[in-house]
Amino acid sequence: MALLIKKFGGTSVGDLQKIKNIAKHISISREAGNDIVIVVSAMGNTTDELTQMAQSISSNPHKRELDMLLSTGEQITSALLSIALNEYGIPAVSMTGSQVEIITESLHGKARILEIKTERITDYLNQGYVVVVAGFQGASLSHNGSLEITTLGRGGSDTSAVALSTALGAEKCEIYTDVPGVLTTDPRIVENAKLLDLISCEEMLELASVGASVLHPRAVEIARNYGIKLYVKSSETNKGGTLLISNLKPLQLKRGGLELTKTVNNLEIVEQQVVFGLSHLPDKPGIAAQIFEKLSEADIIVDLIIQATHEEKRNDITFTIPEKFLERTINQCDQIIAQIGGTYNFKTNMTKLSIQGAGIMGRPSISAEFFDTLSKANINVSLIATSEIKVSCVIDVKDISKATRFVGEKFKLFGSQILINPSLKIKDEPEVRGIALDKNQVQVSFRNLPDKPGVVASICLALAEANLIFDTIVQSERTTELNTKDISFTMSKDDRKNADHILKNLLQKLPGSIIVDGPAIGKVSAVGAGMAFKVGTAGRIFRALANEQINIEMIATSEIRTSCVVLEKDCNKAVTAIHKFFKLNE
Ligand code: ADP
Ligand code: ASP
Ligand code: MG
Repeated sequence: MALLIKKFGGTSVGDLQKIKNIAKHISISREAGNDIVIVVSAMGNTTDELTQMAQSISSNPHKRELDMLLSTGEQITSALLSIALNEYGIPAVSMTGSQVEIITESLHGKARILEIKTERITDYLNQGYVVVVAGFQGASLSHNGSLEITTLGRGGSDTSAVALSTALGAEKCEIYTDVPGVLTTDPRIVENAKLLDLISCEEMLELASVGASVLHPRAVEIARNYGIKLYVKSSETNKGGTLLISNLKPLQLKRGGLELTKTVNNLEIVEQQVVFGLSHLPDKPGIAAQIFEKLSEADIIVDLIIQATHEEKRNDITFTIPEKFLERTINQCDQIIAQIGGTYNFKTNMTKLSIQGAGIMGRPSISAEFFDTLSKANINVSLIATSEIKVSCVIDVKDISKATRFVGEKFKLFGSQILINPSLKIKDEPEVRGIALDKNQVQVSFRNLPDKPGVVASICLALAEANLIFDTIVQSERTTELNTKDISFTMSKDDRKNADHILKNLLQKLPGSIIVDGPAIGKVSAVGAGMAFKVGTAGRIFRALANEQINIEMIATSEIRTSCVVLEKDCNKAVTAIHKFFKLNE
């Protein structure tokens, strides 16, 4: 008999009729002879409504009480669905996260799962029951051994379902939602977004962490780590849906470490890089497109790209290329500057250093520790690019052995985890598989920071200590006459609200520096596994935006993702433009 885990999201359990329909769906699956564990979300907008209730009483409700309150949403659905199943003659029992003993770390609001006890669920299954588990919640063990209710973070029922699949050794995990599966983008923005039959966990992880709410990124991380067969399907039609795939060898589940696997898996070193810094470029639509089209005309494959704006509204764009393209790039840059103005410089003998691991996600302390380690070794970082699962920077080749030693020790990496010039396998993957939009972001810049080791580390550490998650850190190459630098990053609106005090404290330690909050923005990200291998993808993305006269405020890339920060008013237009440009609806 196969064990199936089926998760139903908020809209799919939005009213009583829908809950009854699910009970019918389950009866069919049961008749096929399967054991079933169901995970449910709160009905419709219940979680939002409960949050608003708490906030109407207190602007800063106690996090423990908020978890007590929010966990009731899922508890209601689980009981109602169990009642419905019993009504249809299917023996069912509902359970909260604490009753199952989904043990989490003691962190209210975004706890990670450490372990799931399977005895009670297995007992019920053996007795022929369908078990309905309330998603999004667990319990932490307090110091005196009593259980405290915790929640996993918004969208966390997906994570409950995949974690239960891992602990119970389920045959597959199906996430039922209000769309036919994972689409090329959010159908609320682009009506003719297309269903993807398959998507790699790496691509989905990037998409989910930059706004594709269809899956919780941590659910993807668990599926990838433990090789769970994960499907996303429509709760209305129950048709094929999307299957997530991964080539990684699954990890062994270790006691107490379900979601807390090793944070950093690899240190990657890519030698013979050149950093090109174009500065004082006009800040208007089409500039980035022009530059990267010009580079791709000469078949130059560009690696990292970052763009940040500066005070006087002139842009800097920095990118890296392998040294073999140096002559050609100089040639193209001369032409670019002649056409659009500005200046450029380049630094040879540079090395890209990256830490990589799915456990980096959602843990700002990891990038902080990485930069702190480099600064303690007195190494200056000249360019930073971050994604959810990789933090990269570029350093001088003379510092590389010191950096390897310090970082390797810090993250306890063995020789085999240090990858030097890893060869990228060329696969026939699309350069853009999907597009995500995150409107819940703000842009914050530090200007006039001293250009010396340790400054980035101190900013990252201070934010990380307060558990504030920052992303898309962009440090450009321009150094002013005063030997200062600018750094920009994005963070969620909520985290920005809580960061005031920390940012002010930081400024006191950085005399002469200022903090500038950017205009209302959104982050548009194109993701595709083929991006790293194709010439000119970035240029095409920027061209799609330029054609619509959309100005790009910031650019940040990782190997398989290009993110552009654009003004809030341009967000939907930007997603639609890229979707159309890459013919994703065909
Ligand atoms: P649930 O309540 O079932 O968990 P969510 O609202 O969390 O559902 O996620 C489903 C929603 O995700 C869809 O209604 C859709 O608007 C949005 N979405 C964003 N990006 C995508 C995408 N690439 N594919 C499918 N849906 C997406
Ligand atoms: N109900 C929670 C939320 O709205 C968890 C979930 O639906 O996954 O975020
Ligand atoms: Mg969801």
